[in-house]
Amino acid sequence: MFTPHAGYADAAQMTQRLIQAAQTRGLTVATGAHVKQIQTVSGGARSVTTTMGSFEAPIVIVAAGGWSDKVLASASQTATLQFQRGAVLFYEQPPEMTASHPIFWDVHGEFFLRPHPYHLSAAGWIAPPTPALTLEPFDEFVAPTAATRVAQFMEQCLASKFVAPKRSHTIMYATGADGLPLMGRVHDAAGLFIAAGFGANTFAVAPAVGKTLAQLIVDGNAPTAASFFATPYAKEETL
Ligand SMILES: Cc1cc2nc3c(=O)[nH]c(=O)nc-3n(C[C@H](O)[C@H](O)[C@H](O)COP(=O)(O)OP(=O)(O)OC[C@H]3O[C@@H](n4cnc5c(N)ncnc54)[C@H](O)[C@@H]3O)c2cc1C
Repeated sequence: MFTPHAGYADAAQMTQRLIQAAQTRGLTVATGAHVKQIQTVSGGARSVTTTMGSFEAPIVIVAAGGWSDKVLASASQTATLQFQRGAVLFYEQPPEMTASHPIFWDVHGEFFLRPHPYHLSAAGWIAPPTPALTLEPFDEFVAPTAATRVAQFMEQCLASKFVAPKRSHTIMYATGADGLPLMGRVHDAAGLFIAAGFGANTFAVAPAVGKTLAQLIVDGNAPTAASFFATPYAKEETL
């Protein structure tokens, strides 16, 4: 994961470290548990039925990314997401390219080219948002026409000659219908929260999202934007 102002992190390693950090704080993690249904049980608590059994909890947070609308639908709630498709291709930088290159965006925000760790450059395209798309017909393979258009953009940006990409995959970004994340209490559903639709920029905002949600659940109020710049939000944390 890469964000120009936040840095680079290995997504798999970071996830493992977050899980370990959570487990040392008493969290139980159930991986591979596909949520089938969220139901209200007596006393306002909720029961979450998964492929690995049922769990009861007073608070349930739906954080299923682009699938959150479907998970919420199982609780008879609606959330509207929109999706952006795209592709990213990773090219080995030519040997003569000894220094890093700038980040490029075309004026329409459709094509991008940025340096990537391991002497790679990542280039790709992102289509305008569409509400009609769902994640079901998602194909991981980049169409040759898309790869050609990305290569043409790279040639316009840099004089250096890149050979065929080392790897490539398609992209699907989900946001709320207004392009912003869906975060907070689900209306008329006590104890049910959502945190989804973070689009392309989760890495930089994730700590603030976690703390905002925790404060919303524990205290009933979200912190103001200004309070993010005061302790404890500005505090360095090691996981
Ligand atoms: C190719 C690509 C590159 C990206 N690069 C960057 C980057 O460099 N920097 C950055 O900040 N962001 C990046 N993003 C965006 C970032 O990955 C997303 O915004 C982020 O992953 C969203 O986090 P999330 O937890 O909301 O959802 P997700 O990461 O999508 O997680 C949702 C999880 O819910 C699970 N799920 C779905 N349905 C169910 C169900 N019924 N039961 C149980 N589990 C379910 C899914 O399997 C998934 O694991 C990138 C995205 C893509 C696609």
